[in-house]
Amino acid sequence: MERKLASIRVIADLLPIPDADQIETAVVDGWTVVVKKGEFIVGQSIVFCEIDCWIPHALAPFLSKGQEPREYNGVKGERLKTIRLRKQLSQGLILPIARELEIEYSHTFMNFEGALEDGKIPEGTDVTELLGIIKWEAPIHPSLQGQAKGTFPTGIFSKSDQERAQNLNRSIFEHHMDEYFEVTMKLDGSSISVFNTGDEVGVASRNLWLKVNEENAENTFIKTAVSTGLMEAMKDFPEMLFQGELMGPGIQGNREGFDDFNIFIYNIQRKGSIFLKPEERYEVLHSLLDKGVKVEHVPVIHRRVKLADIGITNMAELKAFSDKKSMRHLIVEGFVFKSHDSDFQFKIINDKFLLKGGD
Ligand code: AMP
Ligand code: MN
Repeated sequence: MERKLASIRVIADLLPIPDADQIETAVVDGWTVVVKKGEFIVGQSIVFCEIDCWIPHALAPFLSKGQEPREYNGVKGERLKTIRLRKQLSQGLILPIARELEIEYSHTFMNFEGALEDGKIPEGTDVTELLGIIKWEAPIHPSLQGQAKGTFPTGIFSKSDQERAQNLNRSIFEHHMDEYFEVTMKLDGSSISVFNTGDEVGVASRNLWLKVNEENAENTFIKTAVSTGLMEAMKDFPEMLFQGELMGPGIQGNREGFDDFNIFIYNIQRKGSIFLKPEERYEVLHSLLDKGVKVEHVPVIHRRVKLADIGITNMAELKAFSDKKSMRHLIVEGFVFKSHDSDFQFKIINDKFLLKGGD
């Protein structure tokens, strides 16, 4: 599921900020956003824009604070970052639902049914495109750019992505407390997939299927897939895909300070996007390691636990859990929770990581 960068949501609560009389904290699902006092009321439908949205200037000119707006992919605007105001964490942007947006929505989606019944856009509606919002992404290091053979082989395998816990707030704490989860460390590198379609072995970045040829000889994805022995070993794993985080010099600032390139596996799939459950994943990975392949599994913090057993019964406790060290750094990016009992999974990103500019 493509993530909804901007959607219609409801203000769940408004909380005062100590020593501040001009601003207050709005709660939207598991998010907190600092807003102007009195601008919104509890229960109000609003547009919520997540962090890492690139907001076009016209939509929220105040974000540029009187300066010339920045430009990203040809759009003048600003990136929504995690900030603290008067010690209060603020993530994202809340905008009132403009009448123009409702009209635009009814023109785009309601052509066959006429206008919206009460003129309102339903909760949950994705309004990212209607508002011209795009996702800001960190620039890609040149060593990772390579010649593409095509796009990621969707149709056979899946890209993987986890929803942010803040968007699943109600669901996690109301419906998934009895499930067992695997908890792994989220590493801040670049996604790599090495696969065997049944006909051929290939290497893909998050979005692209890369050529294995002379032109890509210096590409870090290809080089590491070869140097770890993963590429060669894939011949013995027909119709399977190994997905991991490529870590090392030049990648996302190499916060972990690795001297060399490494692949940390977090997913194994069979053809048809069938994801192996944790225990089977460890087993298959072992058979790969037995062949001498030099990859690792992402650090497993808990193999099988209920959330309450590790002190997580609400969003504040989940956030507190995420404030830990990583492999070699004081601030971890976050953690990924995968259910043993269903396909349910989510990620929690450490606020300290986000406050330092991480994405
Ligand atoms: P994000 O980078 O926030 O969009 O989160 C999704 C990405 O996190 C995945 O595509 C992986 O590249 C990466 N990732 C890093 N560590 C893990 C992990 N332990 N489990 C799953 N994904 C991970
Ligand atoms: Mn990432």
